[in-house]
Amino acid sequence: RMVLMNGEFIPREQAKVDIEDRGYQFGDGIYEVIRVYNGKMFMAKEHLERLSASSEKIGIAISYSISELTTLLEELIAKNSLSTGIIYMQFTRGVSPRNHSYPTEAVTPTFVAYTKMLNRPLDNLENGVSTITVEDIRWSRCDIKSLNLLGNVMAKQKATEADCYESIQYRELSVTEGSSSNIWIVNGEKIQTHEANQFILNGITRQKIIQLCGENGIEVEEKAFSIEDLIDADEVFLSSTTSEVTPIVSVNNVPVKEGKVGEMTKKLQNLFVEAIISECGQ
Ligand code: PMP
Repeated sequence: RMVLMNGEFIPREQAKVDIEDRGYQFGDGIYEVIRVYNGKMFMAKEHLERLSASSEKIGIAISYSISELTTLLEELIAKNSLSTGIIYMQFTRGVSPRNHSYPTEAVTPTFVAYTKMLNRPLDNLENGVSTITVEDIRWSRCDIKSLNLLGNVMAKQKATEADCYESIQYRELSVTEGSSSNIWIVNGEKIQTHEANQFILNGITRQKIIQLCGENGIEVEEKAFSIEDLIDADEVFLSSTTSEVTPIVSVNNVPVKEGKVGEMTKKLQNLFVEAIISECGQ
């Protein structure tokens, strides 16, 4: 298995982190997860643009252009003969003696990327998943795809302990997002998801769904909704790079409608698969 570390391809076993790497000590860095279908990246440009936006928000200077990164990631896929899976990549601020402030001397960000085989979640896509609601205890810059994931980790652990796939987080009266996904409700022919502001990560899958709805005359409202709205909705689903458009069939042990996968969710799944095929082939 070959991984990419600071621009070099090296065997997984040789990739080591310094104890004073700021990513390790502070979670001071950013990351992306890109889906690979049929040996090709899906929406790579959008992911790399979000990476670049995240890096600018926290003042990490990435010395690679988006096209240089794309080439490196394509090489990584080829070296690992990856067909269906993901690329995980991260940049930390770099190695520097521990001190909360950004280092005053120039440090080189640490860059790591590696692949993982991961099939499409066909069972969940077909049958849906269970969820619980949890309070959103995270900070108010959730728009940054930061390595600091403790709030998300704690939320996901609550889901796992409740035998659920995902936690749906709420801040006061508003549902924000899942621990690692965006959350949507459907009522009639209209779909709704939290607006892209500092309280959610603007998912690349979310953006794709909004685009597909626009192209297919499906009305989307980008506005927060309440837990009551969630429980009363005709359909609920989540979206993410790894989970695509996954139906949610129960919330807090209460079935969504009859606990069946809804028609609009199926329609969006089909549009999403068409988008994958048109970009990555079959
Ligand atoms: N919100 C959070 C908190 C996430 O971690 C993720 C996935 N990593 C998403 C939303 C979905 O984003 P994307 O569609 O880009 O994977």
